[in-house]
This record gives sequence, C-alpha cells and structure tokens, in this order.
Amino acid sequence: MSSQHFTTNSETETVELGKQLGTSLKPGSVVLLFGDLGAGKTTFVRGLATGLGIEPSEVSSPTFVLIQEYRGRVTLHHVDLYRIEGAAVDDLGVEELANERAVVVIEWAERLPRPIPDAIHVKLEDKGENVREIAIEGS
Ligand code: ADP
Ligand code: MG
Repeated sequence: MSSQHFTTNSETETVELGKQLGTSLKPGSVVLLFGDLGAGKTTFVRGLATGLGIEPSEVSSPTFVLIQEYRGRVTLHHVDLYRIEGAAVDDLGVEELANERAVVVIEWAERLPRPIPDAIHVKLEDKGENVREIAIEGS
C-alpha cells in the first residue's frame, strides 16, 4: 500500500493537505483518521470538505453528534467516534454510509471494531508547537 509522509507547520497547511486529498476523492471513499486529541483531525476534515466543494465553516466537532452530513459535489458523512462506547460502534453502520454519492471520514478510527476494506488511512501526530506529522496511506 502506498504511504506518503508530510510535515505541516500550521493549521492552514493541514487544511491545505486535507483539501488536496478531498479533491482526489471519489464517491464511495472512506477516510480513517487516527491520532490523539488536538492532533488536527477535525482541522484536516475542514480541508477535506473544502476539496469536496463544502463550506469549511460547516465542519465542527459538536459534543453529542456522532455523524454529521454536509452537501458538496458529493455528500460528506463526518463521523467522530471519540465519545462512543465500544459495542455501539457496530450499530452506527458506518460502512454503509459510503456509496455512489457519498464519502465518509471517521475521526478516532482506532475505535472501529474491524477494518474497513480499501479505506484510506491518515495518521496525525502532534510534534509540539504547530508541527504535525501526517502519514497518508492507500490514497
Ligand atoms: P482533533 O480533531 O485531532 O482533536 P483539532 O483539529 O480539533 O484536533 O485541533 C487541532 C488544534 O491544533 C487546533 O487548535 C489547531 O489550531 C492546532 N494546530 C496547531 N498546529 C497545527 C497544525 N500544523 N495542523 C493542525 N492543527 C494545528
Ligand atoms: Mg476532532
């Protein structure tokens, strides 16, 4: 599987990287985001959304919503598994959200009970200050 490594030095650079990936996504794509709190997952999603023709200000990480839906050139389902209990992930049916008109991006993909075939993996790591290391695999 192809793997690309990036270092970003600002929030803006992470948005730009997310945008590049978003621009390349086809309907049916699943993007899994891995990384701790503050690593930049939601920031990356804002860029991803932009690349799909969605207004980035629509993207947020509200406390109680597990899945948000934004409309662009395709629909983007934005899933955040941070607050979900183990077994409840199964009931969400996240695999079924990706289809011929929609893309799925999942924050805290560590919490998925099983791998999703053909998903793109994005691993974000906080290197201190404004530096983030971001690895993208499978795009
Ligand atoms: P997560 O969703 O992983 O918890 P967020 O994207 O919500 O993370 O928050 C990342 C935080 O880190 C924001 O406050 C952002 O301004 C800050 N930040 C600093 N440098 C970067 C960078 N290079 N990339 C992304 N976010 C950064
Ligand atoms: Mg987040």
